[in-house]
Amino acid sequence: LDDTLPIVIIGTGLAGYHLAREFRKLDQRTPLVLITGDDGTFYSKPLLSASLAHGKSPQQLATATAEEMAKELNAEILVHTHVTDLDRAAKRLSLVSDSGGITAELAYARLVLATGANCAPLPPIEGDGQSRLFRVNSLADYHRFRTALANRKRVLLIGAGLIGCEFANDLIQAGFTVEVVDLQPWPLANLLPEAAGRDIQASLENAGVRFHFGHSIRQLDRQAGGIRTQLSDGTTIEADIALAALGLAPNTGLAEVAGLETGRGIVTNRQLQTSDPDIFALGDCAEVDGHNLFYVAPLTQSARALAQTLAGTPTPVEYGCLPVAVKTTLRPTVVCPPRNRHNSGDWKVTRLSDGIVAEYVDSSGQLQGFALTGSGIAQRDTLSQRCQPLMA
Ligand code: FAD
Repeated sequence: LDDTLPIVIIGTGLAGYHLAREFRKLDQRTPLVLITGDDGTFYSKPLLSASLAHGKSPQQLATATAEEMAKELNAEILVHTHVTDLDRAAKRLSLVSDSGGITAELAYARLVLATGANCAPLPPIEGDGQSRLFRVNSLADYHRFRTALANRKRVLLIGAGLIGCEFANDLIQAGFTVEVVDLQPWPLANLLPEAAGRDIQASLENAGVRFHFGHSIRQLDRQAGGIRTQLSDGTTIEADIALAALGLAPNTGLAEVAGLETGRGIVTNRQLQTSDPDIFALGDCAEVDGHNLFYVAPLTQSARALAQTLAGTPTPVEYGCLPVAVKTTLRPTVVCPPRNRHNSGDWKVTRLSDGIVAEYVDSSGQLQGFALTGSGIAQRDTLSQRCQPLMA
């Protein structure tokens, strides 16, 4: 390898920055370049759905500027710069900057894709109300949403998954009225058994949240200062603004253009190596040995392993049991989603006086996942120790 050429990381989300930090602990010399389409601010993305109730502004969530990160990491950080092409044979990237569309090329020794995910496309919705429909997957998105919330009261949330429920929890405690619509029959239905979902639903309803399950949005129209929506069963809801939290789609476009193998995400082996031996991927964009996970814990583990590999010690990542704390503070919840939901297992639910313990046990009696609410979350460590690792 030409050691005058940099290691280039595309993306300054938690994946890109965690990797750069871990790498600099091991190697202070190799040139490092990070490229981002945004302004490179370092922030904790999970706080976006848990900041209103604590009165935290978007500005307060920004913990370091790109300039400060560049100093800390002894790295060059190219902000507002989009990688538009990847020539694997020449090991070169094409860059376009926001300011006047200046184009440039950059050669790399090794390349890391930490390009994250985008909000999944919305299902078709009739009407002219889309301009009041917000989505939040970045600090800039959140800033737009928070600005639009000023002097408004009624929020319509589309999606009662993990992020939708966290926003419902946050908005209701900050004094908004909140109506939530979801096609599924209970909250976090893709992750939790019904008993745990209903338990969270009850706590949020006690605080004032109104749920509409089993329905989609048919029509969204603007009306004086707000929106009016019609659900598939004909129910109408009026609100001031709407927020859609309908899941994510990994950013695989650049990898596809470059002919790298992609599936749900950019396909890598356990060493985070793509189908090109000099290109690696981690975070929301990556499908690591079959696992495409949109959580912080897998990306921090990936960052540690990949830093070792890039510093000269090939190191596989090993995902153990990875429980996620759901920030529904009105009903604390921890979920460790089962890997093979459809694999002849079943939820075994125990009701406590003040919570739920649900264990997902497969046909051979092995614990494959769990969901805990209320006082049940005290069992997090015990169950984590018993639970099968994601990567056996
Ligand atoms: P991103 O943060 O999406 O970063 C992608 C980067 O790539 C950006 O810098 C972007 O500019 C850059 N980029 C992409 N394409 C290009 C290109 N072509 N050229 C240049 N730059 C490019 N996880 C948990 O574990 N617990 C939680 O409680 C939790 N809460 C969450 C709450 C919310 C509201 C959201 C949205 C997510 C939450 N998550 C949570 C998920 C977690 O935040 C993400 O898994 C994680 O932040 C993803 O980081 P990333 O670096 O992979 O991607």
